[in-house]
Amino acid sequence: MNKPLNFTFIGRSGSGKGTQAKLLIKHFGNLLYVSTGDLFRDLSKANTDTSIRVQKIIEEGGLPFDDLAAALWMHKLAYNLKENEGFILDGAPRRVNEAQTLDRYLDFLERKETCFNLLIDISRQEAFDRLSKRRICKNCGRLIPWVGEFKKIKVCDKCGGELITRADDTSEAINNRLDYYEERVAPTVKYYEEQDRLIKINGEQSIEDVFKEILENVKCQSSNVNSMSNVK
Ligand SMILES: [Zn+2]
Repeated sequence: MNKPLNFTFIGRSGSGKGTQAKLLIKHFGNLLYVSTGDLFRDLSKANTDTSIRVQKIIEEGGLPFDDLAAALWMHKLAYNLKENEGFILDGAPRRVNEAQTLDRYLDFLERKETCFNLLIDISRQEAFDRLSKRRICKNCGRLIPWVGEFKKIKVCDKCGGELITRADDTSEAINNRLDYYEERVAPTVKYYEEQDRLIKINGEQSIEDVFKEILENVKCQSSNVNSMSNVK
């Protein structure tokens, strides 16, 4: 049996990780999608001591204690990931200790060799521009990214609604998110680089070209650990 491929996505806010993750699922099929953002939003809707605190963090900013994100994605994988299925971790790992936790879990699952850590690399300036200029449809909530062809759109391409910038996309909030990357996520990038386990993708290209670069790298590297039949 071919071993399923697994992916983690690292990158600054606005790098398009979620978009690329969805393209990978469309391409490969048997991938369980795990987004830490979604897990935190789901948790915030429960009525527990933890969820009330998480809700506050989502609304007012701030960070939960270090291990909560890892506990959530591990729980999700432990209860849902089938033997012949791969996974995508979108938004994790972020901190080095989280990457180390993931490595121990991957060892247990015997998937370390088949896990591709993708860095969607965009500069801080590019990230700032994308986050401050992206728009949302007032009518249907569709998020219009500030990349390529989308920059020219004047009204929502789905429903024709008015496009506005998001209230939480202020310069201060954006800079806080980008500072977090510099302080906590950049060391994780280094952690993978030092072990030669990072695939760096130029994120400052069109969505299609970023995806093409991901596929080329994955095909090239997966041939070392797997037969090619898992890669279309
Ligand atoms: Zn719309």
